[in-house]
Amino acid sequence: DQRMGRDEVIKGTDDDAIISKLSAVNLGYLDDPFVKHFVKRPSRRPPLINRGSYLRTRSLDTFAENFIRSGSVHSDGAKPGSSQTSGQTKKQIVSLGCGSDTRYFKLKTKGLTVHKYFEIDFQESTAKKAVVIKKNKAFTDVIADPDLKLGLGGTELYAKDYCLLSGDLREFTEVIVPKLMAQGFDTSLPTLFLSECVLIYIQPRDSDRIVEWVGTNMSASLFVLYEQINPTDAFGAMMLRNLRARRIELPGIHAYPSLKSQEERFTSRGWLAAKAIDMNNLHSSLTEGEMKRISGLEIFDEVEEWQMLASHYCVAWAYHVREDPRPAWDRQ
Ligand code: SAM
Repeated sequence: DQRMGRDEVIKGTDDDAIISKLSAVNLGYLDDPFVKHFVKRPSRRPPLINRGSYLRTRSLDTFAENFIRSGSVHSDGAKPGSSQTSGQTKKQIVSLGCGSDTRYFKLKTKGLTVHKYFEIDFQESTAKKAVVIKKNKAFTDVIADPDLKLGLGGTELYAKDYCLLSGDLREFTEVIVPKLMAQGFDTSLPTLFLSECVLIYIQPRDSDRIVEWVGTNMSASLFVLYEQINPTDAFGAMMLRNLRARRIELPGIHAYPSLKSQEERFTSRGWLAAKAIDMNNLHSSLTEGEMKRISGLEIFDEVEEWQMLASHYCVAWAYHVREDPRPAWDRQ
């Protein structure tokens, strides 16, 4: 039926993302030895796209790294910022619509671990990912769990600190939450939810339910999303037309078309605070050294086109604290 056809197209959007990421890795924008295992036919993308992939990945990496490093210092002396995480508050990360994302492996290679890292995507996507991970030492060495198991006909993976789960995010409370719970998901632990170019493909009524569930049921959570905005100006309309020609629709973009509405999707659902910025803002916040480094990677002279493109992507984040999950003796 029509919904099935639409879903197939949406699953395909991950291929695009991962090819672009590999292009940015191969040119030196990003350091990621894991991406190449997910790409059969690498292709070099234009400078504009490489810079976009770089900023997108880097911004969410930074959120994840800071989330893991932040928090209380326990009596064994592990300090935030040190790679020693054993003494820190237990934390979780949930990646909604993970596709072929490699963040868990990159973080853990840097010594940045969490109690549990959950990844969720459609079953066809997780099945492909599970095979790649299970058969490659590069991945299993990082997971480093002799009890790493495939489940549900090879569509899921379970390890001590990593779970790849299959399901439709539109059935979040009915299907996804029970699956998370069955794998040890703990609503009392500080948790980072990541959604990188995912909620935009879902009808707002379904993405709103996710945002609302997280805001209502978690003790302390940080939600970070990255997605398209500004569909109504000339460039945005062209962007949507190009996507539509490939049968890709972004239903969420009409519900959350601006930075302000991205913030309100959280604050109107009880979240404590939210902030959204566009990619131009992020780009100009790069250090001089980093700007110089990426400028040396390839010729980049489409400055105006870049600014136009970058104004159509945003990073939004929100946090919510229901109660302080730390023991009393560890509070300020
Ligand atoms: N987050 C990854 C990244 O940034 O590399 C993948 C992004 S890709 C553009 C979008 C992903 O969202 C796809 O892997 C797709 O299968 C997943 N997705 C979209 N709608 C979904 C749904 N209803 N349930 C589960 N996954 C979904």
